[in-house]
Amino acid sequence: MPRCRVNGCANARAGHSHLCSKHRSRKRRQSHEEQRTVSKADLKPFIEMVQARIAKQPDAKLWSICDQRWEVLIRDWRSQPPKTIFRFVRASTNELLQLANTVSGRDVAITVIAMYLL
Ligand SMILES: [Zn+2]
Repeated sequence: MPRCRVNGCANARAGHSHLCSKHRSRKRRQSHEEQRTVSKADLKPFIEMVQARIAKQPDAKLWSICDQRWEVLIRDWRSQPPKTIFRFVRASTNELLQLANTVSGRDVAITVIAMYLL
């Protein structure tokens, strides 16, 4: 029985794929078969780095610009969601609008910068 093409994986291929079902699923979700989900624990040290930077320079323009851009984006989307035929754009817009109900723009900026640093 042919094996998964990922190094170190002894699982059998799933169907006609070169990957086992686990790595095929990862490829579908993460765009690469060896990319695992980024957890909060993975991101924590990078979030702390960003928070330390903000604490070091609390009056830097970047933070207020990030806050303002988020507020403008959400306000515009709430009044008129982007018109598109692409389902994934509509879905991501809805997800971001829901996110805006629970977290601040600053939290979003911190997470995005932490993801970049990761
Ligand atoms: Zn595999």
